[in-house]
This record gives sequence, structure tokens and C-alpha cells, in this order.
Amino acid sequence: MIHNHRRYAADGVTRCTCAGKPFPKVEGHVHFRLSQWSRCPALAKNAKNVPGEDKRNVSERLKNEIATALNGVDWLGEQLGAVGVREEEVAACIEGSRSVDDTGRKQILRLKQELTGLVLCPLDRNPGETLVLCPSLYAKGMRTAFISNEGYEGCEKSEVEVLEESKDAYVSAGFQKLGKWKKDGRLGRAYALPKHKDTEKFRPICPTFCEPSTNACKMMARCLNAMLFGLPGNEHLNLKAVSDMKGRLMKINKKMENVCQSTQVMVASYDIKDMFSKLPHATIVRAVDWCIWWYKERGLTGVHVKVRGKGARMSKSDVVDRHRFVDFNCLMRYVQFDLENCYTVASAVVLRQIVGIPMGKPSSPPLACLMCAKSEWDFLSSLGSQRRYVAGLRFVDDVSCFVAFSTKRQKSREQAEQILKRFERSYDPALTLKRTEIEDGK
Ligand SMILES: [Zn+2]
Repeated sequence: MIHNHRRYAADGVTRCTCAGKPFPKVEGHVHFRLSQWSRCPALAKNAKNVPGEDKRNVSERLKNEIATALNGVDWLGEQLGAVGVREEEVAACIEGSRSVDDTGRKQILRLKQELTGLVLCPLDRNPGETLVLCPSLYAKGMRTAFISNEGYEGCEKSEVEVLEESKDAYVSAGFQKLGKWKKDGRLGRAYALPKHKDTEKFRPICPTFCEPSTNACKMMARCLNAMLFGLPGNEHLNLKAVSDMKGRLMKINKKMENVCQSTQVMVASYDIKDMFSKLPHATIVRAVDWCIWWYKERGLTGVHVKVRGKGARMSKSDVVDRHRFVDFNCLMRYVQFDLENCYTVASAVVLRQIVGIPMGKPSSPPLACLMCAKSEWDFLSSLGSQRRYVAGLRFVDDVSCFVAFSTKRQKSREQAEQILKRFERSYDPALTLKRTEIEDGK
């Protein structure tokens, strides 16, 4: 009921509206956490709270909602007659005994009224908290996150022109067979969320679910995931799910136990900084190209994706029942199309993402992970005979590297340190590893 940041993000309102307003300010503009404000009603301290419903007309409203939901289900079959709900059926769903209590609702509406003209926005990683901001501050956040971000360039064309051009490229490349171009699709409306730890910083968010090519993109994401998870697990560090970690750690423990005398393990954990936003497109394309090459060497020609439900697998032949076949050439062309046609609308301006992995798309996580898996593969195979001392794990952008060494020999420890240093340089130079921890342990 109270959040309105997406409207401000779309309109690009930049003027200050807080002059003379009696709210807590930081450096002259309204900026405060709603829950810490003395006049905040208890109900509004957590944005996940739902105020009590107005119980009047509830059966009529429920009837209307059901009718709206059932509207347009004629695709279910020709025999389907008119679907309707009777008064008594709806009445059976409602407890009539409760009294009307909408004081909470009124409180929230009053609060909304009082804060008119200000931006109310959830915090990134703390969606229950609401930050109240002067629109000029929010506009500044949008500027740093998008407009003046090096990863984006302003686009001269209108949204309609961009969509028409993308559609032409999409259709002529034959991607309609992957997923229909949605006629009513549009570009995603980007917004920014202030960060929980520092509300002066903003995280950019680009929803892409309404884009016309979203179905094909989902299909591609499934292919890329199948390719990523099909790579042999001991040649890279990628973890499919956190739940696989225990098994992997036990294997690593076992492997390390007898690798040398009086074994100790040097552990370093890292954050991969800017995994999504800094990668050059050429590096991403090279990683996909490499992965396709690896599968082609093994006689595979593409990916079979289940038409219904989940599931995709690598394939040699091109006909499998109830599966759609995507050949590697088509996949590569789609990845390139996706990178070249990545647009978003922020503050009423059409922007094109020119650096990094397309933000918010289903294909983004597998692309980022594939890129890292390739770097890890190269690193591990460059180790030669020292390979047996090294193991590691990575879940998206959190990576740990383990190197075994012998406590009996000083040289062995030095070698381990050198291996860690080499590991730190193994990813694309655009990515920086931020070391979070290092320790020796048995
Ligand atoms: Zn202001």
C-alpha cells in the first residue's frame, strides 16, 4: 500500500519536494527509516504486515475476483460452458461473525497521506523496512545506478523503435521456434533499491519478465544450465546448489587426507566482485564458445529441452519425443543477440547495456557461472602435477580455494601460497577477487 518507488523510477521525477517539511533529514533532504520514526504506526514498521480488510461487501468483491480469474479460460476446451459462481458458494467461504475493524487500514492511509510527495521504498535485503526519501535523492540514486553508469549508454531511439528493430533481428534469425515474440511485450522498467547497510548506496534492479523475448530467453537459460551442469565436476569449482556442498566437502576432505605427509590445508575464501556488471561481452561469448567446442568434440550437437516441465539434456540426435531440440549454432547466435539487444527503461530514458551480463534475465546466472567455470578449468589444468593439492568450491560469486601442504617442509607451504596467488589471477581481469578469509586448518 505504501511503496511508490517504481512510479518515481519510471517517471524520472527529480525535483526536491521536502523543503519546509517536518521530517527527519540528512544533509538537507528527507531521508529516514520509517520504523525508526517516532510517529510511525506499529503496523507500518514492517512493510510485510497486512492491514485488516474492510469487511463490507466482502462477498461481492470475492465473487468479482473469482470471475476475473476465470475470465479467459476458454482455451481449456470447447465443451467448457460458462463458468460462474453462485452467491451461496461465495458466502460459504466467509466467516460472517467477525466485526468490521479497519483501523489499521485507516492508519496506513493517513500515513500515506502525510508522506505524500516523498518516495517510500523497501530496502535491498531488508524488504520489511521502508526508507522515506526526498524524490531528488531517489533520482540521484537512479542516476548513479543507471544513467551515469559506464555499463549503460543512452539510446536515441524510442522504446517502440528499439522493440521493432529487436523484433526484426529476432524473426530473421529464426528464434521464433525457441519462443514466440510476445506482441504485448515491452522493455523492463528499471528501478533502484537503497542498500540495507548503507542507504546512500543503491542496487540497480532490471525486471525483464515483460520483455517480448522472455520465453526464448528462459529456454536458452535451460540450455545453458544443462551445459554448465554437464561439465565434469572435478574440472571446475561450480556448485549447482548449496545442498551439494556437504558431499563435495567430504570428497575434498578424503582427497586431501593422504596427499602428502602431515597434511594441512590452506583455505582462502573470496567474493567475486562485479561478477555480472563488469564482464566484457567478448569474454562471455568466448566462454560459451569454448563450452560448445567441448561438447562438439564429444560428438554432441545440441540440447534437448523438455517441452513441459523442467529438464534439459545434451544430445547427439535431433529427435526426442516431447523435447525441443536447440542446436549449438542457434544457441550461440541467441547468446550474441541477447548481449547486443539488452535494453531497459530508467527514469523515462531508454538505456542499452553495453558491458556485463544482461541484468535480470534468466540466462544471466548460467552465463556468469559458465564464464567462471571456464577460468577455473584453465587454472586447474595449468597446475600440472600440483593439481592434486588443490580443491575448491564456488556458489555463484562466493568462491573458496583449498590448497594442501605438508607441515614438515617450509617449501611446501610456500608453494601453497603461490598456488593461491595464481588462483587469484585466474579470472577475467575485469573481475576482482576480494579475499574474505584465509586460514590454515587440519
Ligand atoms: Zn529534498
